[in-house]
Amino acid sequence: MERKLQSLLSTALKAISDATTQEELDKVRIRFLGRKGELTQILRQMKDVAPEKRPIIGQLANEIRHRLETELTSHIEEVRRLVRLKQLEREQLDITLPGATTTLGHKHPLSLVLEDIVNIFLQMGFDVFEGPEVEYDYYNFEALNIPKHHPARDMQDSFYLTEEILLRTHTSPFQARIMEQVAPELPIRVICPGRCYRRDLADATHSPMFYQTEVLVVDENVSFANLKHTLLVFVREMFGKERSIRLRPSFFPFTEPSAEVDISCFACEGEGCSLCKGTGWLEVLGCGMVHPKVLEIAGYDPSKISGFAAGMGPDRIAMLKYGIDDIRLFYENDLRFLHQF
Ligand SMILES: [Zn+2]
Repeated sequence: MERKLQSLLSTALKAISDATTQEELDKVRIRFLGRKGELTQILRQMKDVAPEKRPIIGQLANEIRHRLETELTSHIEEVRRLVRLKQLEREQLDITLPGATTTLGHKHPLSLVLEDIVNIFLQMGFDVFEGPEVEYDYYNFEALNIPKHHPARDMQDSFYLTEEILLRTHTSPFQARIMEQVAPELPIRVICPGRCYRRDLADATHSPMFYQTEVLVVDENVSFANLKHTLLVFVREMFGKERSIRLRPSFFPFTEPSAEVDISCFACEGEGCSLCKGTGWLEVLGCGMVHPKVLEIAGYDPSKISGFAAGMGPDRIAMLKYGIDDIRLFYENDLRFLHQF
């Protein structure tokens, strides 16, 4: 009887350790410990055992039942753990698989130059505004002292949408707009960067769409010296501390007097080279004192108030700064070009 019990114990233990699922363990429990299980079957033969031995057999049977129950419980835990592990293995992500790469872009050379311009003027206490690209003829021309049939209109072949509305040909309409908005409040110290449109031929130095940045200061006692100093500070921040500037008399209908501004060539330090076409100077922008008529149209008294304005081409500045010889490269989206900045 004892031997039968011992053999049941070892058979049951082996069955438990061989089981790999909860269902198999349940079957083992029923087979050995169930109401009609093997342990019960053996205990039914107790009547054949000598009475004095019965308590010993009974105790052994209890120990075996207890041992098997403990083993079953701990083995169920083990089986659940293995099932979870297998599930995790099945569902795990392969983090070594290369992902879909995102190509990171970078800033366009024109954006870089526009940011430089804006930052330089912000440091000098200017505000930044943007005007509309679709503009009234009034602001684009008339408020800037360019009446209908004025010959200066011929210099700017325009994209007209209607008789009175066009794509702005320069950022100067912003001068008229800002003065009209804030007059009679002073001072005005603003820049206006943005796109402009002209029916120019597209060649190495002309594009039908291009950038301009307008600079405007209006206050009491604004002088030409203020204009020159502001431009010198700008040019040195943009092109290096060694640069000097030269002002040549010029004509714009909305400034008087007017000037073209050249900077000393940074490629040859003024010696003369192919970049400056041997002159030692590079033309970078136009400027002048705001025309009294423009001040008047905006509602200021030109005998008390004065101002200066300048307009620069970020395309031109970017071409000079980065040594680019064709303006069309900015607008062709050729990555071989754009990746160089
Ligand atoms: Zn040069």
